[in-house]
Amino acid sequence: MKNRNDLKKLSNLVRFEVLKMSHAANAPHLASSLSCVDIITVIYKKILNFNSENISCASRDRFILSKGHAATALYAMLNHLNILSREDILSYTKRGSLLEEHPNPKLPGVEAATGSLGHGLSVGCGIALSSKINKSNFETFVLLSDGECNEGSTWEAALFASAKKLNKLTAIVDFNKWQATGRSQKVLGLDPLVDKFHSFGWDVSEVDGHNHDELETCIKQKNKDKPSMVVAHTVKGKGVSFMEDDNNWHYRIPNQSELEKAKRELNIK
Ligand SMILES: [Mg+2]
Repeated sequence: MKNRNDLKKLSNLVRFEVLKMSHAANAPHLASSLSCVDIITVIYKKILNFNSENISCASRDRFILSKGHAATALYAMLNHLNILSREDILSYTKRGSLLEEHPNPKLPGVEAATGSLGHGLSVGCGIALSSKINKSNFETFVLLSDGECNEGSTWEAALFASAKKLNKLTAIVDFNKWQATGRSQKVLGLDPLVDKFHSFGWDVSEVDGHNHDELETCIKQKNKDKPSMVVAHTVKGKGVSFMEDDNNWHYRIPNQSELEKAKRELNIK
């Protein structure tokens, strides 16, 4: 991936794949997938030592999509990496397909079953701890939703990661300010989220979760003694003007005309 325009184009392509999958399968969680596309693009194209060649190597970096309801964004990226085929993508949610609404670890490239929210950071802690014990060099990345920060298990994992000095663990919060039924701040206030992770002993940075350069810089920053947390400010439904920050699109499915309109906005030929 040569430059920032290529990365932007790829994010738009991934967004359109997400839209098409939702439309074809009549499946929800579209806006939650769109909010984390830029994060997933930067992680897979700029950060992870992970590709179709080293997918089974013990030394590969690990990525866990803790917000498993955003599975279509992950599937679209795995398709771009030639790990999932076009046929796989077209089978999304169909009977017998492994491309379910939440990631299934039987699929190549999926490290953990997620979507029962609040578990991904604990899984990441276990992987990062085993890496430390085995003196491996790989990194572990976990992408959380802001809604998952309501879960006690997330904070137990945060405490554990810090106590065990899991310096090869990086978590990113897709802070889109919504959860399924409402504004995150109204459902259960998270502020000040950065200070909270700081107080749990993490190295914390805050970033525009749609700025590829900033994301790359922040996610690459490491502290030799601490786990890293990137609080990424995002917009739910990002990239499609009539979906942005409209929580109806948590469950709504785009019709054909909305799909065409989104395609034009994303500049897909
Ligand atoms: Mg959210």
